[in-house]
Amino acid sequence: MNWKMPVASPHRIIAGAREHNLTSTLCGIDVVSASAQPHRWLYAMAEGTVEYIHTAYDARYRKQSDTYHSYGRFVVTRHDADGVTIYVRLCNNDKIDAALGDVLPAGGALGIYGTTGNSDISGAHVHIDMWIAESDIAAAASMGLVQPPGRRVESPWPGAPLLCNVDPTDMLTAAGLGVINRGA
Ligand SMILES: [Zn+2]
Repeated sequence: MNWKMPVASPHRIIAGAREHNLTSTLCGIDVVSASAQPHRWLYAMAEGTVEYIHTAYDARYRKQSDTYHSYGRFVVTRHDADGVTIYVRLCNNDKIDAALGDVLPAGGALGIYGTTGNSDISGAHVHIDMWIAESDIAAAASMGLVQPPGRRVESPWPGAPLLCNVDPTDMLTAAGLGVINRGA
């Protein structure tokens, strides 16, 4: 499948998976647009469906991942990669302009990224993390999408099942999106 970054190109990765692992409990990457035309449009990373939208956000709790507030306003999209379901969570948005169940192409408009959630140091950015059901991990690994095992997390967003947090590095690098810093 065809992956795109969720920001206008060219993009800049401000934290790869390795740095993220050193400072947080989950593996993800942080990205911004380095476009000469400054804007913060947020795009779907692949063809898929809007699975979940989180707009409840209270800045007082922006450091508390257990309350979901550290992710700010976020949107989860669901993608089918040859029978493997991949969930993408895009966080720290100011505004989400999509509805549950919307079917979007890669690059479809999702909203405006920004500074909700834990963005004190990095400022406006998109935090990307990816999720796969444990039962799909072996298939995803055999397709070269991920390195098993992934980290099991209960309800990464409200109402979600148990999913594995996977390093997005391999699939994005394979798509030519320049993700570096895989941890040793
Ligand atoms: Zn992040």
